[in-house]
Amino acid sequence: MMILLNPGPVNLSDRVRNALLRPDLCHREVEFSQLQSTIREKLLQVYDLSGDRWAAVLLTGSGTAAMEAMVTSLVPRNGKLLVIENGVYGERLSKIANIHGIDYIAQQHPWGAEIDIKGLLTLLDENDDITHLAVVHHETTTGRLNNLVQLGKICQERNIQLLVDAVSSFGAEELNFESWGITACAATANKCLHGVPGTAFVIVRRDALAGADTIPRTLYLDLPTYCQQQDKGGTPFTQSVQVFYALAEALQELEEQGGWRARQTHYSQLASLVRNELLAMGIEPLLPATSSSVVLNAYHLPNGLSYDEFHDKLKAQGYVIYAGQGTLAKSIFRVSTMGAIARADMERFLAVVKQILTD
Ligand SMILES: *Cc1c(COP(=O)(O)O)cnc(C)c1O
Repeated sequence: MMILLNPGPVNLSDRVRNALLRPDLCHREVEFSQLQSTIREKLLQVYDLSGDRWAAVLLTGSGTAAMEAMVTSLVPRNGKLLVIENGVYGERLSKIANIHGIDYIAQQHPWGAEIDIKGLLTLLDENDDITHLAVVHHETTTGRLNNLVQLGKICQERNIQLLVDAVSSFGAEELNFESWGITACAATANKCLHGVPGTAFVIVRRDALAGADTIPRTLYLDLPTYCQQQDKGGTPFTQSVQVFYALAEALQELEEQGGWRARQTHYSQLASLVRNELLAMGIEPLLPATSSSVVLNAYHLPNGLSYDEFHDKLKAQGYVIYAGQGTLAKSIFRVSTMGAIARADMERFLAVVKQILTD
């Protein structure tokens, strides 16, 4: 078996994999309705959200579908969006706004940089027509965990709706929807929730859905349409039924294992182990632990070893690491802790790295 140290799709537990084999189901039958409702409730329960104020809207697609649904459905035609960019996924939020002709500006940072709050306040002062702010919680590009506490406070003070890409943090990092003033967050089944790729979702405040434009910008990704039909047990389009089975099982497993806090603890233990051991071998992290998520950390490549060589040697021993993107492609590698990975798997991985470096 390959141990996947890439940030999704993840290694599945046996119980999640076996859930894929449940009976064939028509998405217009009551059994599907029940499955869908269970998932929607459990997604809200991950962060103790009330179903009166919040809705989990399920889509068939990858995490990017949820990002695109969130941005296109919630920023109205007379709204204006500010996107914070400090990595690939922040830039993707801008691309979405650009493609759909949404009025937006971007606050650009170098990849991995901390959000410049002073600069943000200046930008907001200069653009007092901003209605929405979009940001990535965990920037998987570098492993930086952006601080949403400060952003939430700024947005609440200025009556700006906060849209969060939590695709690689939902289920394993703290997300305080109510006190941080989050309006919506986009996430996926196959990262920290340990499900199968093919289903993504947006957790959204119901009053924000009610305020959306009546004529949608997209047919397939319109959140109000999905939400209305899902509230009645239906779905506008065919959903990925087997992937739903797996997600329901993964959510049940998360609950039994102690919820997001227990998962955060487990990831954190794995991440510290990797960080300490790699450092002892002379492999430096890109960012300090205090700025990084527990979900993924980026490291400088060991001296004299190209990414491809390092990757291929590890893969031959059963471990898949993840390359850097863009200009980081030649200088870093990434190690994720998500998925059904045990401490013993990480210990073996580290032993293999050590062996490769000795050779
Ligand atoms: C993985 C990821 C996405 C979505 O990627 P997909 O390939 O569409 O699943 C979006 N944002 C972040 C921060 C991610 O890590």
